[in-house]
Amino acid sequence: MSGTHSRVRERVDRDDTVVSPSRAKAAQKAIVAWFDRARRDLPWRRTKDPYAVWVSEIMLQQTRVETVIPYFERFMGRFPDVEELARADIADVLLAWSGLGYYRRARGLHAAAREVVSRYGAKFPRTTDELRTLPGVGEYTAGAVASIAFGERAPAIDGNVMRVVGRYIGLRADVGSTEAKRAVRAACEALVPPVRPGDFNEALMELGATVCSPTSPDCPSCPWRRSCRGVELGLDAVAGGPKKRAAVPRVKLIAAIVEREGAVLLARRPLDGLFGGLGEPPLAEGPLPRARTTFARAGIELHGKPGPRSVEHVLTHKVLEVKLATARADAPQSLAPYTDLAYVPRSQLQATPMSTLARRLVRVSFADA
Ligand code: SF4
Repeated sequence: MSGTHSRVRERVDRDDTVVSPSRAKAAQKAIVAWFDRARRDLPWRRTKDPYAVWVSEIMLQQTRVETVIPYFERFMGRFPDVEELARADIADVLLAWSGLGYYRRARGLHAAAREVVSRYGAKFPRTTDELRTLPGVGEYTAGAVASIAFGERAPAIDGNVMRVVGRYIGLRADVGSTEAKRAVRAACEALVPPVRPGDFNEALMELGATVCSPTSPDCPSCPWRRSCRGVELGLDAVAGGPKKRAAVPRVKLIAAIVEREGAVLLARRPLDGLFGGLGEPPLAEGPLPRARTTFARAGIELHGKPGPRSVEHVLTHKVLEVKLATARADAPQSLAPYTDLAYVPRSQLQATPMSTLARRLVRVSFADA
């Protein structure tokens, strides 16, 4: 192909993704009408209170709606407004979050609540630009809160919206590329309507969750089926088309289960990072001799080999395979990466901020007790 031809082809490919005003209008009408019919009745959809919208949006990141519902209801019961959340101790916030995963979100929520109170007198900022200055609030969350709670005509683009809109405009560029992000943002800016922008954004999220799923989009049920470029081109040909999940790495760990006089040894994770700020039975990477040496340096002595019981914990990017080994620790010392080690009475475990993995480890360890 000559240089001139490839330049023409590139231009055609790029222009393919542009959403004209008439197409945008038809798409807005179709998806909002569909949303009015098909929307699920979710607790955070019964209000436009920016605090509730914000909490729900943070909880819904990387987490399924069904999982979030009970957490959201409990959290709103415990911290009903931004001032209550700002006043709370971080340990209480982590406890309320315990089991929901991605704990950095809870820390961000708490820090942002304090800023809303100190900088804005407990009144939520109304624009995407102001919202974005809060801890843990990125472009997506700012757009979602500003559009849903305050009616700002702002896009809210997360991974789901990238996929749905990428398919709708027949995007060929790799979804992670700058070109793709630019094309989807331009399409969303054209698509988000001046009237009911929040409902449009919620409709798009709902479409991604219930119809235009990652692996098996239900195109015949989709309000966009007649104008979807992805369908026209064949979904395999576009970015965001149904793909098989890549295999995730497996990490082998040994958990030291130490009990002394009715108390369990827990190690606390550093605040930033996986399971930040939460307690868990001390973990070390296997194989066994390596884990044994790591624990020994911290004054934790494993009894023989790990028992037959193990726990498999699936995270987004890896699977943790944890074998349980009973151990003894008379004078436990520091163990990287933990910030501290302490015995917690078993009666207080329920009230201690711990991850789901940690609770499973404790449950399995003491199943017979
Ligand atoms: S028609 Fe199919 S691919 Fe296109 S947006 Fe709808 S569900 Fe997704």
